[in-house]
Amino acid sequence: MERVDCVIAGAGVVGLAIARGLAAQGFDTLIVEAADAIGTETSSRNSEVIHAGIYYPQGSLKARLCVAGREKLYRYCAERSIPHRRCGKLIVATDDAQE
Ligand SMILES: Cc1cc2nc3c(=O)[nH]c(=O)nc-3n(C[C@H](O)[C@H](O)[C@H](O)COP(=O)(O)OP(=O)(O)OC[C@H]3O[C@@H](n4cnc5c(N)ncnc54)[C@H](O)[C@@H]3O)c2cc1C
Repeated sequence: MERVDCVIAGAGVVGLAIARGLAAQGFDTLIVEAADAIGTETSSRNSEVIHAGIYYPQGSLKARLCVAGREKLYRYCAERSIPHRRCGKLIVATDDAQE
């Protein structure tokens, strides 16, 4: 029976990114996917927004990881000429408290 170092269940963006990271460190990595092809579930049906982290509590782990991940993603796209737009976000306050 063939042996590998790591098995990843699920070839969405998270599984693929983890597998890439492990493989880059030299681990033999196998990805198993329940669907017919990789990236065909949630990861290919989202809104395609690179989030800014503004909806998470300021300073929270989620907010910090989101902002750090955003910068990594912009850098990754730029280095590989992957088309993307850094278009900003318009936030409209609908009451005084939000303002
Ligand atoms: C409507 C919507 C809009 C979104 N918009 C955005 C956005 O604009 N920006 C953003 O950053 N994020 C967005 N997200 C969130 C983002 O899409 C998800 O966080 C991300 O795609 C999750 O990736 P994943 O790899 O965890 O899951 P998935 O892409 O679902 O991958 C999981 C994979 O695991 C496989 N699997 C499951 N069970 C097994 C098993 N037992 N054995 C083998 N394989 C298995 C599935 O078939 C699937 O391919 C959105 C999410 C939704 C639902």
